[in-house]
Amino acid sequence: MAKKDYYSILEVQKDASADEIKSAYRRLAKKYHPDLNKTPEAAEKFKDINEAYEVLGDDKKRANYDQFGSADGPQFSGAGAGGFGDFFGGAGGGFSDIFSDIFSAFGGSNQRAMEKGDDIFVNLSLSFEEAVFGIEKTITFSKIEKCNDCKGTGAKDGKNFSVCPDCHGTGRVRYQQNTMFGTTIREAGCTKCNATGKIIKEKCDACNGKGVKRVQKTVNVKIPAGIDDGQTIRLRGEGNAPLREGVNGDLNVRISVMPHKLFVRKGVDVYLDLYLPFTKLILGTKIEIPTLKGNYLLTIPELSPSGTVMRLKNRGIKNLNRDTYGDMLVTLKAEPPKTLDKTTRKMLEELDGKIDPRNYSKYQNFLSKK
Ligand SMILES: [Zn+2]
Ligand SMILES: [Zn+2]
Repeated sequence: MAKKDYYSILEVQKDASADEIKSAYRRLAKKYHPDLNKTPEAAEKFKDINEAYEVLGDDKKRANYDQFGSADGPQFSGAGAGGFGDFFGGAGGGFSDIFSDIFSAFGGSNQRAMEKGDDIFVNLSLSFEEAVFGIEKTITFSKIEKCNDCKGTGAKDGKNFSVCPDCHGTGRVRYQQNTMFGTTIREAGCTKCNATGKIIKEKCDACNGKGVKRVQKTVNVKIPAGIDDGQTIRLRGEGNAPLREGVNGDLNVRISVMPHKLFVRKGVDVYLDLYLPFTKLILGTKIEIPTLKGNYLLTIPELSPSGTVMRLKNRGIKNLNRDTYGDMLVTLKAEPPKTLDKTTRKMLEELDGKIDPRNYSKYQNFLSKK
């Protein structure tokens, strides 16, 4: 799967300064925020923009991305899989300031949208059979979780904090601004408490006062029978915890399916090229072939043209969420022998000499049109 180009998502050059990236992010996040932009593609775009900024907005992660951007492990990739170091590593310019700005520009009424943690994306590679029949897989990934020691408060024992005097615990403050158009009231995140509404007296040791911490998490994922390459399984609430009160983001497991040595999949149908000596196509035969539902004795009728496609109903792949199956399509192909000894050649020459074009309608047609 192609790696996302975070620079083109943010519409900036590879050598853009941190300020350029930040302002591009502000502009695009405003443009595509799902609460402000109701077009169907906005939500996906907004997610991409956030994912891109999570990396490019942080010097350390950006450097990693520039250097190792395409060096994914075989199993997992993406910012959520721990490839980019600590989410909290960057100095300043975090999400909360930017969002305060964005929401203040729209009257702060969209604050609820902030209450969901970020989604995490991991890649999961499956064998052909695992995708066809379904399987349960264990996935280990890195995520931000609410700190249990302090119940997410960031204060030692969950008690050693007081209500912020500047914002009275709301995390938001109003500023009066005098401009040439008159006085306006602007709302933004409280800087004294970093918009948490709390002043911590003694920090929680487990999370260093952040209220959340990065942990390795293992989950079991049920892969339904019939899943296909490129599809995503969403586990609601298994993503990152929000930095303040709210609900967790989701874990998105992107599926890639490895090819099979015999079968080719197209949707829910399975294709098999069956190579046979040409005599078997002329004489007809019975041959045992593998299918997804076990071996099947296929009857090849006498005088089968090379290229004949035989359809085996319901021997394909299960439709996701439905109890119906695709078909298996077997294409008959004539295979010449690898070598030709003298005796066989002589027999074939004799046979060839006896061929009467009138017994081959397409061949005869062709000859008459030459
Ligand atoms: Zn405050
Ligand atoms: Zn804690």
